[in-house]
Amino acid sequence: MSAHPINDSRPGADMAPYRADFPVLQRPMNGRRLAFLDSAASAQKPQCVIDAERDCYEQYYANIHRGVYQLSQRSTQAFENVRGTVKRFINAADEREVVFVRGATEAINLVAQSFVRPRLQPGDEVLITGMEHHANIVPWQLVTEATGAKLVVAPVLDDGSLDMDGLRERISERTRFMSVVHVSNTLGTINPVETITALAHERGIPVLVDGAQSAPHMPVDVQAMGADFYTFSAHKTYGPSGSGILWGRLEHLEAMPPYQGGGDMIRTVTFERTEYAPPPQRFEAGTPNIAGVIAMGAGLEYMESVGREAILAHEQSLLAYANERLAAWDDLHVIGTAPGKAGVVSFVIDGIHPHDMGTILDMEGVAVRVGHHCTQPLMERFNVPATVRASFGLYNDREDVDALIDGLTKVKSLLA
Ligand code: PLP
Repeated sequence: MSAHPINDSRPGADMAPYRADFPVLQRPMNGRRLAFLDSAASAQKPQCVIDAERDCYEQYYANIHRGVYQLSQRSTQAFENVRGTVKRFINAADEREVVFVRGATEAINLVAQSFVRPRLQPGDEVLITGMEHHANIVPWQLVTEATGAKLVVAPVLDDGSLDMDGLRERISERTRFMSVVHVSNTLGTINPVETITALAHERGIPVLVDGAQSAPHMPVDVQAMGADFYTFSAHKTYGPSGSGILWGRLEHLEAMPPYQGGGDMIRTVTFERTEYAPPPQRFEAGTPNIAGVIAMGAGLEYMESVGREAILAHEQSLLAYANERLAAWDDLHVIGTAPGKAGVVSFVIDGIHPHDMGTILDMEGVAVRVGHHCTQPLMERFNVPATVRASFGLYNDREDVDALIDGLTKVKSLLA
């Protein structure tokens, strides 16, 4: 684990100590220093996460919960300890509120099917926003279509912020649930989730906050946020893919039927009747991603050791530097300029397709994402087919931003 504090008194200061913790970032790309600017899609993994997963398999792996032998007890202990880490990481009130899932997508589907679907009658409404990831759109389409309910969408303003008046106007007598992204993966907009949950709760409406892009970048306090459910994916918090978290208020989880049936989620089974385990096990059917959960815990501890305030400050200073450098280009348009946004810059350049930019940038050792970023309705809102998206992680530095700018200069020399 790294022991070097981020020096946030020097905006965009050299992050080499953290960069050094990430083996992939030591590998050259096309003979150049890799500028990895795609952490919003998935973050790279520090050595401590890789070690935690390998140690599990090399030192103590066994299936969890039912083994009386030592290996199984050790695995179970390491796996269950991660609930405590997550509780601390998001300031949950109780470890039983922490459900291990495959990722944010599975968590949202779980809440949609298990909590929301039984509450929907024809004509009821589920309210989301116009900047949701497909993972926070399609599960709601599935449940509203199945029940005759309606999906209602709050609009997005031209600067990429949420239209709060538009949101208020769309909360109706029929709104049964709201599901809102905390930080937009495409725009970087940070939504005022505390205000949104307060608005919803005045009317008795529960709220899910999609934290896939907030957990990796800032301190998270689910109690202060006032959410009913919160979710994130480990692969974006410097952990492995295939594990993630659903947090839900215990009273909700206790009232919810299982999402999937199988081993580990039961108390007793007969052919006539099954009694379910209490949460969180009720929602953890089957053998989980044991080593993946353990390594997720290592990723969260790594973030805590760096400090989430420091990560946020660092990424914001990089964003300011990137915006400053990109502002010099008249034909480059940043999509999403809301004040106080997170470290994500989406942009287009007149006359050049984002995919061509992405390909040339890759040749220059700069990894960015191009496309719709799983937010097709948002692309339509801004009338663009795709954008180039550069997103920051704690290992990025000004050199990465400079590499992006140099790469774009190359793009223009070749294509403009
Ligand atoms: N929500 C947001 C805002 C995201 O950015 C993502 C992934 O990019 C997801 C949900 C889905 O996460 P996963 O694919 O890890 O389930």
